[in-house]
Amino acid sequence: MSLLDNIFAAGIVGEGGAGFPTHIKLNCKVEYLLLNAAECEPLLHTDKYILRNFSDKILEALEASAAFIEASQIVIAVKGVNTTEISALEKAIAEKKSTVRIFKLDNYYPAGDEQMLIYDVTGRVVPPGQIPLKVGAVVSNTATMLAIFDSLSGRPVTHKFITVAGRVNRPAVLKVPIGTSFAECIAACGGSAQKDYNIVNGGPMMGKVYPGGEEKKLSVTKTTSGILVFSGRDNFIARTGTLSVRQILSRAKAACIQCSFCTDLCPRRLIGHSLHPHRIMRKMAMLDFNKPLEADDVLQEALICCECGICETFACPMDLSPRQVNKYVKSQLKGGGFEQRTPLDPSPQRGYRKIAPQKIMARMGLLGEYDTWNERYLELNPGMVRIPCAQHIGVPAIPVVATGDHVECGQLVARAVEGRPSANIHASIAGRVVLADSVIVIEGGS
Ligand code: SF4
Ligand code: SF4
Repeated sequence: MSLLDNIFAAGIVGEGGAGFPTHIKLNCKVEYLLLNAAECEPLLHTDKYILRNFSDKILEALEASAAFIEASQIVIAVKGVNTTEISALEKAIAEKKSTVRIFKLDNYYPAGDEQMLIYDVTGRVVPPGQIPLKVGAVVSNTATMLAIFDSLSGRPVTHKFITVAGRVNRPAVLKVPIGTSFAECIAACGGSAQKDYNIVNGGPMMGKVYPGGEEKKLSVTKTTSGILVFSGRDNFIARTGTLSVRQILSRAKAACIQCSFCTDLCPRRLIGHSLHPHRIMRKMAMLDFNKPLEADDVLQEALICCECGICETFACPMDLSPRQVNKYVKSQLKGGGFEQRTPLDPSPQRGYRKIAPQKIMARMGLLGEYDTWNERYLELNPGMVRIPCAQHIGVPAIPVVATGDHVECGQLVARAVEGRPSANIHASIAGRVVLADSVIVIEGGS
């Protein structure tokens, strides 16, 4: 089997983002293969755990992937402050006499944004709305590369490494079967340290916020990187994480002072993309909610926002949320395109406007959580998992099992749709299947 056949069979998708099927992403020939090992979301420690413990496997998968896509440059982009992880990688590179290079990124957020990373490593700017292939690069995430290593020996994606942190009693990196409930992960970490809390699926900057209690309904998927628990009061997430767009825009109408700090500190703007969140805020604050939104040159720019959150968590002095407004505009202008008409000139100010994660955490009222990481490692074996057939961008996989079937761990339970962006899904524990809508429940021990 070719590398792509192995990856397809194993059901690998981008584990660090929206879950783009990897067999499609690597079906190309490019100059650069970049490993995104920045793990720039504060409070997450999953990729660093993988780098420290599996650096030899990561190298092997990188070399196999680079050979397939004929990449002449293989670069691991990791923050220079992560010295333990860099030492582990350097040792593995020396032992294997590998040609893989390490690029030490500055310690800023969002160093792991694909476009930031490509610019930092190669000096090339991916035009807005385009993909890295346009500048001869493919970027893969650390956990995805570990999954590629497993696929080389025929092992499918069945488990995830995740961080459980924030206000839990005993934070940890966990290895769990896909489909494990968030509640079980939090319980394994000693539970929430307080009664009044919110849950974040992902990192504090880009993760999705849920009210405490919702963890019983959520399960780990191929793209889960972390589960965070925060106080339900006195921090940015509690104040703005659950506001509606109408509430955000009402506040913008009253309080946006058009200082343009959101634009000045926007990372995409700083690499030369034509994105001006302050102009979008001005326009949207005057919006009549009873009329459909009409695309124009100002609003169209929201389509190239990567939703990193710098504008709302750090830049805005008035506690407003340009990111949420951009998300709303995107949802209303679905399918619209964006073409940059101005030159792609990165700002000479960029070097001075990179923001350290500690500063953002302090502004969000989360510095205590940031400073208190004390790593533990656990493996969970839950008695039941809930595996959705849609864990990736594209078309959901089609179940190939029925209620009452017995499955073994690693057995195919949902097949990718032929000729469409889709990915196979496998059982993550052995047990009896219960099929409910597009979710495959497996009850272990039966
Ligand atoms: S930073 Fe805040 S107040 Fe200033 S222009 Fe942007 S949204 Fe308005
Ligand atoms: S979320 Fe804000 S800072 Fe980030 S890319 Fe979008 S507009 Fe720029």
